[in-house]
Amino acid sequence: MTVYRAPLRDYKFLLEEVFDVGEIAKLPGYEEATAETFAAVLAEGAKLCEEVLFPLNLPGDAEGCRFENGVVRTPKGFKEAYDLFRQGGWTALAADPHYGGQGLPATLNFFVSEMVASANLSFGMYPGLTAGAVEAIHQHGDEVQKKTWLPKLIDGTWSGTMCLTEPQCGTDLGQVKTRAVPTDGDGVYRITGTKIFISAGEHDLTDNIVHLVLARLPDAPSGTRGISLFIVPKFLATDDGARGPRNGVRCGGIEHKMGIKASATCVINFDDAQGYLVGEKNGGMRAMFTMMNAARLGVGLQGLALGETAYQSARTYALERLQGRSPTGVKFPDKPADPLIVHPDIRRMLLTMRAYTEGGRALAAWVMQAEDKAHRLTDADERAANDELVGLLTPIVKAMLTDNAFLVTNLGMQIFGGHGYIHDNGMEQLVRDCRITQIYEGANGIQALDLVGRKMGQHTGRLLRRFFHPVDQYLRAKMSDPALGEFALPAYRAFGRLQQTTALLAQKGLVNPDEAAAAAAEYLRAFGLVALGYVWTRIAEVALAKRGMANGEAAFYDAKLATARFYMAKLLPETGALFASIGSGAKPVMELAAEAF
Ligand SMILES: Cc1cc2nc3c(=O)[nH]c(=O)nc-3n(C[C@H](O)[C@H](O)[C@H](O)COP(=O)(O)OP(=O)(O)OC[C@H]3O[C@@H](n4cnc5c(N)ncnc54)[C@H](O)[C@@H]3O)c2cc1C
Repeated sequence: MTVYRAPLRDYKFLLEEVFDVGEIAKLPGYEEATAETFAAVLAEGAKLCEEVLFPLNLPGDAEGCRFENGVVRTPKGFKEAYDLFRQGGWTALAADPHYGGQGLPATLNFFVSEMVASANLSFGMYPGLTAGAVEAIHQHGDEVQKKTWLPKLIDGTWSGTMCLTEPQCGTDLGQVKTRAVPTDGDGVYRITGTKIFISAGEHDLTDNIVHLVLARLPDAPSGTRGISLFIVPKFLATDDGARGPRNGVRCGGIEHKMGIKASATCVINFDDAQGYLVGEKNGGMRAMFTMMNAARLGVGLQGLALGETAYQSARTYALERLQGRSPTGVKFPDKPADPLIVHPDIRRMLLTMRAYTEGGRALAAWVMQAEDKAHRLTDADERAANDELVGLLTPIVKAMLTDNAFLVTNLGMQIFGGHGYIHDNGMEQLVRDCRITQIYEGANGIQALDLVGRKMGQHTGRLLRRFFHPVDQYLRAKMSDPALGEFALPAYRAFGRLQQTTALLAQKGLVNPDEAAAAAAEYLRAFGLVALGYVWTRIAEVALAKRGMANGEAAFYDAKLATARFYMAKLLPETGALFASIGSGAKPVMELAAEAF
């Protein structure tokens, strides 16, 4: 069976020992976000996730959502769990206090969301999509829209969606056909069209659903420049902000899909529905992008979260399951066989899972701290610098963490052997649930193109320098350290090759864009692996300093060091193959004619 305990010790390690959470509490507006606040909120969230959400995960997958006469029923227990979640204030954690939020930092919200997704990803989709809608309205809506929609979205009485995808387009949103026709009412439009694959598009958890919809005005230019963003609620709001009459929004059905079966994935039909323009006419893609960047980090975190549950479950199983004897002789003579953990191949899989999960969490924590600084620092240049670091690393967090998570959940299933393939043990669900994270919020191939095609060259490489400079400085300073050099030196070598490959790719891509596009996925992975090398070196530095003075915690720091060593020796070398493959250029990918496939 799967097991889950919130990794509170790892959160504390990252927040208080590797990255200084105290820096967040120095930011204006976050004065109350001290280490104590973080610890108290995380401990409370852990209880809810372990005791309420996790037990609903397996039955929720078996039952799935049901579509009955236009209504979607979530699995048994979801409504009660959602009410607890809402009443506990979890939907309001990071939202603006002006509209009823608690105004806590994104970093804290991030870890809470990780726990929710580890416990029950399907459940987490409902408040997750609402958070995206809140962000879009908060950043781009006018004051009336904010006052009308935000309080109920933030307190979780109503929920939100992101309606982008249509049958003919998912990646290429320039093909959106949904129409928005202005009416005589100020800022009121009539929306008509069909959206597909809409997460949380219809359900029985809240008494209204507020859709954020991309649509095209009659005179709009073609392509992405002609798309606008609209609020289109299932029920209109009355002047005093209560639920009003039904709008022309109907659910046409739900998808039967591979995973996240308790998350309703809906066809939503808009039929002359009343909608309200958010932001500028034809500015919808820009507005949606601010929301999508946060959502992309959130999806990277979903992968990480499933990897955590897979690791904990596989570790527990490997310690209990008795099978075969150690190649170096019997280790548990009083038992009929040794536990799986003695086998080198099982250890290889567990350490791979652990290195990607804990390293990924550290990388994400670094990015989230930069996100908080990008919003709250007083100095505009420093804000911009942090924002650029987040922008650069967002596609890496989204794509590499989810690619790794699919590998990790799959390894978890492998450690369970045949029992991993059986539904009732929960491991195959983690693999199925994880798979979508590589696809939605921009498929991982699109993240790679974002990194190579947009972020790499932006501001003549300034975004790259936000990462390259601090990493270069840090690793260079540490690589000849007698103790830390063991970690910093391989990380620095891989970093050096990343710099060379970046220059090569930038040069070749200017002459022939296929050269950059054909290498994009491998480049993103190599970049991500180097970034993990950097954070594992920082983790090792803290662990080396702390292990001597640990009060009974030596095992925690020793495990960090052993995992860092494993990462440098067994996982980072993948970059060598990636750099060689990138060096072979676009020809091996492009020479076969389309009709010959
Ligand atoms: C369970 C689930 C939940 C979802 N939730 C939502 C939601 O809440 N709201 C919403 O709007 N959408 C949602 N989606 C839709 C999802 O975001 C899209 O499926 C995704 O963006 C990919 O679009 P597509 O399926 O049309 O694939 P396509 O765009 O047809 O792409 C197919 C493949 O081609 C690749 N590709 C496409 N264009 C290029 C290019 N220019 N260069 C290189 N490769 C390219 C893609 O990477 C992908 O691998 C959801 C989907 C699922 C399955």
